[in-house]
Amino acid sequence: MGESPVEALYEQVRAAVPVAADHAPPTLLQVFPGIRVLALRTPTLPPAAHTNVYLVGPDAGPVAVVDPGSPYRDQQTVLDEVIGGVGISRVLLTHHHGDHVGGAAALAERWQVPIAAHPRTAERLAGVVEVTQLLEDGEVAFSWQAGGATCVFTPGHADGHLCFEIGGATIAGDMVAGLGTILIDPSEGDMALYLESLERLRARPQSMILPAHGPPIPDGHAKLTEYLVHRRMREQRVLDAVPTGGGSAMIDDLVATAYSDTPRVLWPLAERSLRAHLVKLLREGRVRETLGRWSR
Ligand SMILES: [Zn+2]
Repeated sequence: MGESPVEALYEQVRAAVPVAADHAPPTLLQVFPGIRVLALRTPTLPPAAHTNVYLVGPDAGPVAVVDPGSPYRDQQTVLDEVIGGVGISRVLLTHHHGDHVGGAAALAERWQVPIAAHPRTAERLAGVVEVTQLLEDGEVAFSWQAGGATCVFTPGHADGHLCFEIGGATIAGDMVAGLGTILIDPSEGDMALYLESLERLRARPQSMILPAHGPPIPDGHAKLTEYLVHRRMREQRVLDAVPTGGGSAMIDDLVATAYSDTPRVLWPLAERSLRAHLVKLLREGRVRETLGRWSR
């Protein structure tokens, strides 16, 4: 699979930050009525080492499988064994990153089911994973007698990012993490859109958030507020780091100042995030850039 800049960066961080040793074999857990989860090992961003695969639908099946991200054969076998008991009707993708789609093509092929995602995700996956059903904001991606999964378009981390609302729970993909952090990389992400999407999710009535990495977040509203506060704090720190009064600074200096509270080993990630903040601030006319030097 071709590596996106985000995946290349994940790889770089994995080489620098040890992930927790592999733990017990994956077990299927019920996290909400009509939603079960299986955490499978994936090449993701440390400290996370797994991506949650959500099985949505009636206990007896068939279910929709959200983000079968593991490219590893042993993990795919575990998923196949679980699915063998309930049956599957489709694969749903929150977005195009490898740790969310790594097992999608193989799974859809084995079970002869369609893969559904947002059109922008389909474009990004062209030639890698064949998306056969397109999903738009507000559409019901999958329904069964007792419920349904409704798409909420939440661009920012990725331009085709969807969340899936099921009753009072939201399968949130990479909007929020239960473990680790969400990277907004300016090559494929957009900080302004990400903040808008966080606001949008927060305005909805759902409470429980089911992230792609880490455990369920019972109070979704509080977590979304925390994320918004944190990102705005960081934006302010980035802005404060940009010199005024005729001075200017290079990216490395801005990272050192705006992320002085972040371990150095994470600065490659911080730099991407900082650039995403700068793109937003530049668009808003709050900073200027000349030949790689930033001022305001
Ligand atoms: Zn992602």
